[in-house]
Amino acid sequence: MTQPIYVAQPDLPPLEEFLPYLREIWGNKILTNGGPFHQQFEQALCDHLGVKHLSLCSNGTLGLVTALQALGVTGEVITTPYSFVASAHSLLWNRIEPVFVDIDPATLTLDPSKIEAAITPRTSAILAVHCYGYRCDVDAIRAIADKHGLKVIYDAAHAFGVRDAGGSVLRHGDLSVVSFHATKVFHTFEGGAIVCPNAETKRHVDHLKNFGFVDETTVVEAGINGKMSEVNAAFGLLQLQHIRASLARRRHVDAAYREALEGTPGIRLLKSADELEANHSYFPILVEENFSISRDALYEKLRSHGVFSRRYFYPLIANFPMYRHMASAQAENLPQANAAANKVLCLPIYSALSLADVTRIVNIVRGA
Ligand SMILES: *Cc1c(COP(=O)(O)O)cnc(C)c1O
Repeated sequence: MTQPIYVAQPDLPPLEEFLPYLREIWGNKILTNGGPFHQQFEQALCDHLGVKHLSLCSNGTLGLVTALQALGVTGEVITTPYSFVASAHSLLWNRIEPVFVDIDPATLTLDPSKIEAAITPRTSAILAVHCYGYRCDVDAIRAIADKHGLKVIYDAAHAFGVRDAGGSVLRHGDLSVVSFHATKVFHTFEGGAIVCPNAETKRHVDHLKNFGFVDETTVVEAGINGKMSEVNAAFGLLQLQHIRASLARRRHVDAAYREALEGTPGIRLLKSADELEANHSYFPILVEENFSISRDALYEKLRSHGVFSRRYFYPLIANFPMYRHMASAQAENLPQANAAANKVLCLPIYSALSLADVTRIVNIVRGA
């Protein structure tokens, strides 16, 4: 019996490599609250990513919730329905109304040409997602935001390490939020970070993630507990030593899939990652109507062979019960997003996936 293959498998360095970090924590007894590993990891991440300021947090979702608070976002926010549910949930947690706008079928990110029609006097921000690590049209989004006086927040949960000609993609927007969840391309078990444009904003975010404390006795805002622990930060430092090798392996897996699947009738691939500067964090395929079987039948067929692909992102966020009553959530408003949600299948991709397994998965798809 062959081992089941899941859509993602987290990178775990040899346990022995982590023990010295744990010994240090056991020795100094500093477990959280911005300890030495937290400080080192923030600096190491800034260096690695090529950004100046970031604030670690306990997960990406709390990062989004905190980012919206830091920018004072209220009223309505324009966002994509084609994402993980945490994107829109972060708005509801702030009593903000999401207004869904359709996606560009080429990149599956927010379609800038649809944004302006959705702006009302209550709109205060745009929350866009670099879906699968594919960069949003950041220039068009910035131009619209500037014209209408809106903030821009990027849910960059998929975009660790993604760069464009000007540097890290995380520099875009008023704030960008990454996730270090175990299923992401770079992980700290649970974790995340808010990338800030300047030291002052980082200080504000640092206060917000620590209950609003600015010193021992002064609380200036109703902040939350969104801090990253020393264990997670130490693990992140160790992971950073392995990330380049891990991304290189993913690049091979991506290339092997592309070579084997290119030209399969009824299977559409997104543009190659190098053209769009992505990080091989996902391998989505779109199962078109002219494929021999339906997307769901292919999903089941892969399962029957022990291959657990995932329908990211199906259902659309707009179709979940807490959103589907909203005017912008209706299917007529979101034809591209609904089409993508009904066609997409994310195939397994992770650094330890062997090329033999890629071939096996491709053969199941092509033989369907
Ligand atoms: C994973 C993910 C999140 C949430 O991050 P967590 O660290 O799991 O809280 C938010 N948005 C997107 C697009 C994600 O994929």
